[in-house]
Amino acid sequence: MTGAFDVAVLGSGFGGSLAALIARRAGRTVVLIERGTHPRFAIGESSSPLANLLLEELADGYDLPRIRPLSAWGTWQRTYPEIGCGLKRGFTFYAHEAGNPFRGAPDRSDQLLVAASPNDEVADTHWYRPDFDGFLADEAAAEGAEYLDRTAIAAIAAGASGFDIDASRAGRSMRLRARFVIDASGPGGALHQALGLASTAFPDLPQTEGLFTHFENVRRLDAMGIFPAAATPPYPADDAALHHVFDGGWIWVLRFQNGVTSAGIAATPALARELRLSEGATAWQRLLDRFPTVHDQFAGARPTLPFVHRPQLPFRSRSAAGPGWAMLPSAAAFVDPLLSTGFPLTLLGLERLGEAMRTDWGRPAFEEKLQRHETRTFLEVDAAALLVSALYARFDDFPVFAALTHLYFAAASFAESARRLGRPALSGAFLSADHPTFGPALDRCCRMALGGGDRDEVLAAVREAIEPLDVIGLGDASRRNWYPVDQADLYASARKLNATRAEIDALLVRCGLVTA
Ligand SMILES: Cc1cc2nc3c(=O)[nH]c(=O)nc-3n(C[C@H](O)[C@H](O)[C@H](O)COP(=O)(O)OP(=O)(O)OC[C@H]3O[C@@H](n4cnc5c(N)ncnc54)[C@H](O)[C@@H]3O)c2cc1C
Repeated sequence: MTGAFDVAVLGSGFGGSLAALIARRAGRTVVLIERGTHPRFAIGESSSPLANLLLEELADGYDLPRIRPLSAWGTWQRTYPEIGCGLKRGFTFYAHEAGNPFRGAPDRSDQLLVAASPNDEVADTHWYRPDFDGFLADEAAAEGAEYLDRTAIAAIAAGASGFDIDASRAGRSMRLRARFVIDASGPGGALHQALGLASTAFPDLPQTEGLFTHFENVRRLDAMGIFPAAATPPYPADDAALHHVFDGGWIWVLRFQNGVTSAGIAATPALARELRLSEGATAWQRLLDRFPTVHDQFAGARPTLPFVHRPQLPFRSRSAAGPGWAMLPSAAAFVDPLLSTGFPLTLLGLERLGEAMRTDWGRPAFEEKLQRHETRTFLEVDAAALLVSALYARFDDFPVFAALTHLYFAAASFAESARRLGRPALSGAFLSADHPTFGPALDRCCRMALGGGDRDEVLAAVREAIEPLDVIGLGDASRRNWYPVDQADLYASARKLNATRAEIDALLVRCGLVTA
């Protein structure tokens, strides 16, 4: 079998299938090559307001109405109740000390809850990837992409006008030809290997290890009687990306509506060694034995799949694009699950590559856009890595850890608001890394934290750094680590977004945050 296509997409995770859909809508012929088959387990499940907004923008921009309902809990549940999904109202963090139950300090200094949405209807989601990715691959095929699953790529070589891909499927060899190759096969994937690319470490990030699986019967923390009944948090704390953080690492707990809960740990090499994470289930038990409250949460839980051990989570290729090829950010690099940066980074890359395919296909500007994609990918990924490195350095000092997360929450919510106002240039790159004042301030705060900076000085530096972008009241200490969605914050911050009161009114109605 042979075939010639405009675009070959390698890998049919959500990133690859969306790339194929976008390329089809940009008028290209597409082959989508997957070594496995759907449905299959995939890790990386928790979305965020910016990720969902980007998904919505791609769906609108490329006329993909069947994808759009997947950008919020309410529309997803009504349209596709059969596609597994979890309700994510915010980011929940609890700080733990080994050997002790979660303390629950009266001043809330050992917890942080940042709401991402005012109600369930417009809430974010956890994507149950066996269903979600399978649906998107089917959509890509339905839109005319040639979808080849169970296909092993043997070689990829640059030819006179694109790439030759030698592959085999069900015992049959094939040569596929494509003018443009998008690598969506994950870190260190198909193109990284085929082109013999080098990788580099993130300078300040520990070489963390991961251990994770899916469970059933994980208890809700808010049903375990550990929180004062009188206090009402900004959203039900378990309907969130729930983080248990401690010196050396953190555990995520993500609940799906189908009874499955995703959980795992990312740990520094020292803690991973101590727990012997590579041993899987017994290491998980050792971890639970250390943290009594987490132990109770998982007391009746049962893994539904074997544990997966990743001996090294971070990855950074030296290159993300070249003549006739580009990697999605998720193939070029991975930092850490912390703060759910993977999805928005991937979707921002899809936005860039879609734009190039749509407006500059076959023109010299196309290759220039690929180079810009590479530069922007690494700017964004490196900023995320620096922030996550600082967070790892201060897991043992929760007030500093919580303050550092404000850098993420300020930049992400500012970006969401700016985009919803139709002014994406205001926030610029992911984490506003290229913002003239916030970018350098983010860098300074992270380096202070990494250098063991004094707690009060780091807290003051973060307060000052976030002020120009803070549109959600993060600077208000009276909230004591609980940050609900309060429209008053947006109105009070309108000048930061160069917006009038009427524009904020319209934005809130348009996005379903209030009724007209
Ligand atoms: C432990 C962990 C937790 C994470 N949690 C989050 C989170 O909560 N939120 C978040 O935003 N991000 C998270 N991420 C990141 C997230 O997983 C990625 O951003 C996301 O999976 C990228 O999707 P993708 O479709 O681009 O690639 P992938 O999901 O990596 O899919 C790659 C696809 O390519 C296929 N493939 C691989 N090699 C080949 C080949 N040679 N030929 C053909 N096909 C191939 C694979 O079978 C697979 O289907 C996490 C990552 C890890 C490691």
